Amino acid sequence: MGMTTPTVRLYNTFTRAKEELRPVGAGVVRIYSCGPTVYRYVHVGNLRTFMLPDLLCRSLEYLGYQTEQVMNITDVGHLTDDTFDRGEDKMLVSARLENKSPEQIAAYYTAAFMDDAAKLNLNRAAHYPHASQYIPQMIDLIGALIARGHAYEVGGTVYYDIASFPAYGKLSRNTTDKLLAGVRGEVDPRKRHPGDFTLWKAAGAHRLQVWPSPWGPGFPGWHIECSAMSMSLLGDRFDIHTGGADNVFPHHEAEIAQSEGVTGHQVVGCWMHGGLLMLAGARMAKSAGNFFRLSELDEQGFDPLAFRFLALQARYRTKLNFSTEGLAGADRALRNLRERVADWSTDENNVDSGDAEVAPYENRFRAALADDLDMPAAMALVARLTHSDLSPAAKASRLVSWDQVLGLDLDRARPAATLPDGAPALLEARGKARAAKDFAMSDRLRDELAGLGVTVTDTAEGQRWRVAKPRP
Ligand SMILES: [Zn+2]
Repeated sequence: MGMTTPTVRLYNTFTRAKEELRPVGAGVVRIYSCGPTVYRYVHVGNLRTFMLPDLLCRSLEYLGYQTEQVMNITDVGHLTDDTFDRGEDKMLVSARLENKSPEQIAAYYTAAFMDDAAKLNLNRAAHYPHASQYIPQMIDLIGALIARGHAYEVGGTVYYDIASFPAYGKLSRNTTDKLLAGVRGEVDPRKRHPGDFTLWKAAGAHRLQVWPSPWGPGFPGWHIECSAMSMSLLGDRFDIHTGGADNVFPHHEAEIAQSEGVTGHQVVGCWMHGGLLMLAGARMAKSAGNFFRLSELDEQGFDPLAFRFLALQARYRTKLNFSTEGLAGADRALRNLRERVADWSTDENNVDSGDAEVAPYENRFRAALADDLDMPAAMALVARLTHSDLSPAAKASRLVSWDQVLGLDLDRARPAATLPDGAPALLEARGKARAAKDFAMSDRLRDELAGLGVTVTDTAEGQRWRVAKPRP
């Protein structure tokens, strides 16, 4: 229909600019996404972050690219530097509290995450590597960093030497001074710089989740996990890395220092970060205890996809305020939209509008996706299309097509069944009877259709029909 293929531009946190996407492998965009930590349930703030790679893959595929997405499962420790120095290992804390092994905890919460992801229509990644399965690759990377002068070992613990990597701090725009000021708590005096981060931690008193290594028994730091899994699965040059805004520092800053420290070149083409979800003015966070799980919203009677609808109203990079009032509005709007799609797709005047009328909408939709996933613009276009004078059939087919990206199940309210045998002929006869103003005949045919389970209503644009749901 005279579609244009727009140039895709994505905002790169590293350069603070929108940049043209130029995939390393022609036509295939390779994406690594920091995934869930599986010692607790994810909340809708986490899920908003995971919507970013989902929208990215859906948009790129809609625009004709292939994608290969990796999302890791952090089933080892998840030791941020803060908690690390206090010796708190969240996986082990959960294991102790719930009287289960770390493996049982991880399996349980991984399954819960997959459930939530499915309810939110997050398309499945090509790979879900578990950190615990990549310990040998992490050990190799740490060895290479020591050999290249980027890391040092003290007493069985290996630290990254941030002074050896001049670009450290570039992603987060942290200067070494600021990094120093940001160090909290007690610092291991054996560190060369207080900002040096842990690559490998000596096991100490730990008895669970401990692996042998050239530096003695221990376990990996959180950051090295993502360097190992991303490069193992996507190679040492891939296109896009996603995560939450709270991953920029220290997690992704450390990942750059590690991956580039080993390879000696740029590994990630574009860093994309999802904005935080706010609740009553504060960041939604597990640690702060102010969060909603998707299943809680489900139990309150909201369609889980109403959260998706809500999230689509804001740019992925901006903070988004969450409220149950906002969610209720999204829920109503979503159900309403589905009803209209159902009505339009069963409209008797099933003629498509001309390509020339539809193409501008399609091209604008594509342009919105290509402009750094401008979903608010895409949703504004949904509203504009809804109120346009395109034919009902054209509206329905556009929206169902766009739903490949939106992921809102817009065709859910459509009648599952097609018209029963005999109904099309009755509808046609009734249409003629109405045109001839033979209302007695028209009413009789309506009753006959009702007997077949087909409800007909007359609108200014002609007959509309709906097939009653079969009774169980
Ligand atoms: Zn990560």
